[in-house]
Amino acid sequence: MKYPGVKIYLSKDIPEEAVYALKSSYWCDVNKKLWIHAADIFMFGGYLTPKVLFKPPFNLIQAETTCLECRKKVTVCAVEASGYVPVSGAGPEMAITLGRLLNIELEEIALRTVYLTCVQEYPPELLKMIRRHSFLFRKRNFGEDNDYFANACSHCKSPIDDFLLFYEQDGVLARCNPSHDRTLFPLNYVLPIVVDAQFA
Ligand SMILES: [Zn+2]
Repeated sequence: MKYPGVKIYLSKDIPEEAVYALKSSYWCDVNKKLWIHAADIFMFGGYLTPKVLFKPPFNLIQAETTCLECRKKVTVCAVEASGYVPVSGAGPEMAITLGRLLNIELEEIALRTVYLTCVQEYPPELLKMIRRHSFLFRKRNFGEDNDYFANACSHCKSPIDDFLLFYEQDGVLARCNPSHDRTLFPLNYVLPIVVDAQFA
């Protein structure tokens, strides 16, 4: 495998007795999930949830929007990847697909920039680079069982829903709305990431 060290986060619903049997899994305090090295993925098929593989290089994009709570101008950020492959299906099948994907040259994945949205887990090393630009970017709750990494207003601290930024017609980062000013900062993270997320 070309990328055996990529972190793969496991399902949140692993029975406690099973955790003891999963000797090569590790706890991530940032994401509150168990993770494994991609090299071990075939042993953990039963504990995988649908993922998206995002390919480097990654950029941090900043744009300005209006906070819906306090109506002030606020800078929000997004992570942009250079390509993506969604992987879903039954766990063991996913393990095989992901194992194969992490063994190909990344150039084989089509070059197409996308924003990562509703990201439930970030490799902590990448998250640190994002938070250097935006320290309010962290995991937030948007209703029952809907936790993901999101922006917040720097004035009133209200969380800012990814839906408003990326999927609403006048969302500042919506693809159908390319006219807004966006500032780009390269993120120095060279590995692909495999995360529970969506993309826009
Ligand atoms: Zn606000």
